[in-house]
Amino acid sequence: MELNLEGLNFELLIEVAYFAAAILFIMGLKAMSSPVTARRGIFWAGIGMLVATLVSFAYPDMHNYIPMTAAILIGGIIAWWTGKRVAMTDMPQMIALYNGMGGGSAAAIAAVELVRLSAGGELTLSGPVSQALAVIGALIGTIAFSGSMIAFAKLQGWMRKVYRFKGQQIFNLAIFGALLYYGWVLTGGSFGQNELMIFFGLALLVGVLMTIGIGGADMPVVISLYNALTGLAVGFEGFVLQNPAMMIAGIVVGSAGTLLTQLMARAMNRSLGNVLFSSFGTGDDGGSGSAVEVSGTMKAINAADAAITMAYAESVIIVPGYGMAVAQAQHKVWELTKILQEKGVRVSFAIHPVAGRMPGHMNVLLAEAGVPYDLIYDLEDINSQFPTADVALVIGANDVVNPAARKDTSSPIYGMPILDADKARNVFVIKRGQGTGFSGIENLLFFEDNTRMCYGDAQDVAQKLITGVKSL
Ligand code: NDP
Repeated sequence: MELNLEGLNFELLIEVAYFAAAILFIMGLKAMSSPVTARRGIFWAGIGMLVATLVSFAYPDMHNYIPMTAAILIGGIIAWWTGKRVAMTDMPQMIALYNGMGGGSAAAIAAVELVRLSAGGELTLSGPVSQALAVIGALIGTIAFSGSMIAFAKLQGWMRKVYRFKGQQIFNLAIFGALLYYGWVLTGGSFGQNELMIFFGLALLVGVLMTIGIGGADMPVVISLYNALTGLAVGFEGFVLQNPAMMIAGIVVGSAGTLLTQLMARAMNRSLGNVLFSSFGTGDDGGSGSAVEVSGTMKAINAADAAITMAYAESVIIVPGYGMAVAQAQHKVWELTKILQEKGVRVSFAIHPVAGRMPGHMNVLLAEAGVPYDLIYDLEDINSQFPTADVALVIGANDVVNPAARKDTSSPIYGMPILDADKARNVFVIKRGQGTGFSGIENLLFFEDNTRMCYGDAQDVAQKLITGVKSL
């Protein structure tokens, strides 16, 4: 099928469209940096992506309109359907999956170019730099693809075990060395299909090996790293194809992903190397993850009694965590907040950068419930307020309020910045039972003298607290 659109200046049209797409990507990213404008940002970036995709139909000598239309329709329908259905708590694995697809697509583009080269043809942009970038993009994209797939399987709960064996790092290094060697062969000159297959096979293996030894609690950082790598791969392949939209989108994703990776690693007080090569949160220690004996018992309180303390408090700090997301308790929590405010209580929300299961998870839920942004504080802004707070109400949060990070040098989370909920006069923890947090580590906060456990599903308990406060 061929379109006959003679007379139109396609090159100008393509350039204008790519320029518009690039502006939309950048404006979208800027808008995403604040929860107030984030929705708009996603929309703009999406329109940019649509423009960049549709403009490929205008390329001179383009013939594959039917497969292109089919790919856009199939991809669009699947993405729409899964996007509508996915639960907020499953968002990280969805990001891992889609991110992996991006890396895989960049690698597939590189594969097509390199196969042509191996058969004696030319790259779209011939020359040694282009050839080197095609190979580097293929390497990075393939690693991001297989690594993201393993991250997806882990977050989805399909792969619970953390695979570690003696000499693993040396083994991984050897495989990586072999991959670099084949990359060099591909960059250097003539090669055949066999070298190409070995290269891609090794790159897939490196992604798998890099990820299987990492514990679930570190997955957000790993996903963010793969996201940055995918961006880089897309940018490199964009250069090879001389496609400005791919170059700009790749650079934007690559740099944003790199910054996010650094910020998240810093929020956990870990280096990237430590995230990739240590076994934090893997349960390898076989127990509480601590050398310190946990003393004391967890003391329970019922919601009615907790409500009395909160109703007569001057200030309450609410610390939401993953359990609030599971229980979808954010609307009840906001209702509780409003009733407390009516009684003259100052209520603030404390958000840890890795609370929940994705960056910004708690902000999204609270925004959805209508909590005003000026009640929501980041860790560094709120921590100094805990010692003067009458109540810290911990709702389904665990790891992000574990004082082991401050007190227990042998704990795997030692050094990670936490919300200092334990410093409040009273701490009420809402959770269903004695379950540990994502990292599998016992929480010292639950055994403190000023802590009371308010057992139950977060939504049910929040409702009981509302009833309790209202009745006073
Ligand atoms: P945690 O995962 O540490 O703890 C959640 C707690 O919620 C559990 O102890 C659980 O206890 C409780 N809970 C679960 N369901 C309910 C419910 N329906 N009602 C009440 N309580 C419930 O959460 P945090 O937010 O404190 O910490 C996040 C962790 O997840 C960190 O370790 C972080 O590294 C990791 N992570 C973060 C990501 C991110 O990007 N933010 C992504 C992936 C992982 P019980 O079972 O007893 O109810």
